[in-house]
Parts: sequence; C-alpha cells; structure tokens
Amino acid sequence: MRRRLVAGNWKMNGTAASLAEVEALMAAHPSPLVDLVICPPATLIAPMAQAKGHHALAIGGQDCHAADSGAHTGDIAAVQLRDAGAAYVILGHSERRTDHGETDEQICAKAEAAHRAGLVAIICVGETLEERKGGRTLEVVGHQLDTSVPEGATGSNTVIAYEPVWAIGTGLTPDADQIAEVHAFLRNRLSARIGTEGAHVRLLYGGSVKPSNAAEIFAIPDVDGALVGGASLRAADFSPIVRALE
Ligand code: PEP
Repeated sequence: MRRRLVAGNWKMNGTAASLAEVEALMAAHPSPLVDLVICPPATLIAPMAQAKGHHALAIGGQDCHAADSGAHTGDIAAVQLRDAGAAYVILGHSERRTDHGETDEQICAKAEAAHRAGLVAIICVGETLEERKGGRTLEVVGHQLDTSVPEGATGSNTVIAYEPVWAIGTGLTPDADQIAEVHAFLRNRLSARIGTEGAHVRLLYGGSVKPSNAAEIFAIPDVDGALVGGASLRAADFSPIVRALE
C-alpha cells in the first residue's frame, strides 16, 4: 500500500516571513492522513525545520549536487540538505533542466547522492508541448525514467513526479485520460527498471494543481499525490489540496 504524498515546491519564493504560512498550514492539518512535504528555498530549510515543531511536516530541498562536498561554488550537497533538516529533495525539475541544462545522467548521479545522504529523491519527468503534439510523450518520459532513476531506487527512497512542462505554471492540465495513460506507463516501466520495488514507488502528478482540480486529479488511477508549485505558497490554497488527498 503506497502512502499518499503531497509536496509543495516554493521555487525561488519566500523569506522568513513566509514561515507563517507553514504555521497556518499545520494548524489546519495537525495530523495529516497523507505525507506532507514543503520544499522551500535553501535559505529556509533550517529555519523551517527548527520552527515546524510538528513532526507531520517533512522539509525538502529543490536540488542537490552529485558530489558529497568539494569546489562547487553556489551548489549544495545532499548531506548538507540533510544536515539542515531536509528529508526529501526534488531533482530534475524542468526549470533546472531548462535554466541549468541538467541532463538525465546528471539527475541520476544527484539521485544517487541523495540516497547516500538518506534523502528521498523526488525525480521529475515530463514532455514539452511540442513533444506531446508530436505524439512522443511516452517515448520522452520513458527515456527520462530509464536514464534518471538509479539502480538502487526503492519505494522508500524514490518518488517520481510526472510534470508536463507545458502544464507547469500555465493553468493548463492534461485531461484525466492523458494523466492516467502516462502514470500507467510509468508504473510498468518502473517495474521493468527496478523490479518489484517499482510497485512501491509513489507517482505524483504536477502542473497547475489547484484547489478546484485537485480532487479530480487525485481520483485518477495510479496518481499517489501531487507536486504543487504556485498553489503551495499560501496555506489558503495548499490546505484544500491536502484535504482533497486525505
Ligand atoms: C512545479 O513547479 O513543480 C509545479 C507543478 O508548478 P505549478 O503547480 O505552479 O504548475
């Protein structure tokens, strides 16, 4: 049985004042029936971990380096995320792939670093609009999955987020059949890649999830939760999404 999970990706948003949103969220969900994760900017990981006081909330990073330490100015190691209080890390987000040219092979090496540090890697895959229109969605996400998920992935150390690039921050979402098709495909492909553990890996949908569409998306087979960007910034938006998953 896979425990459902909702993760908020704050991206490059938030300052110390934003910790009040976490307080409000946890006041509304003191004992959530699902795993609840917030991935704030790196500056807020330690303050959020120290302030949270509620064990029901896990904290995540938004990226990590493939090495455990060294001369990599501006980067952050998985062990440092863990040291600051994180339990998860998002890897291979489409904004990292686009802004920083990250490849599947780099993402795989980062996931291995995350696993070494004891972090759960949330590995993102997803097609562009051009690839979808060209009928290449399954080919693209299949290749991303095969090359970015490390050999040692298990249901305990890895989560996959299906995030169509054209749905992120646009207000657009695939229809239910399209999401179901990709999630069923990913589930089978995971089993081919990592065997029986593939059945235990949680599959999240991400891309313009909001209070008004969350329940419909969570009813789709093989959707174990969501990775939420814009709607995770304010407790007033995020809380109804969490509620829809519970
Ligand atoms: C994301 O950035 O992972 C995301 C899903 O963003 P949004 O919910 O804003 O589309």
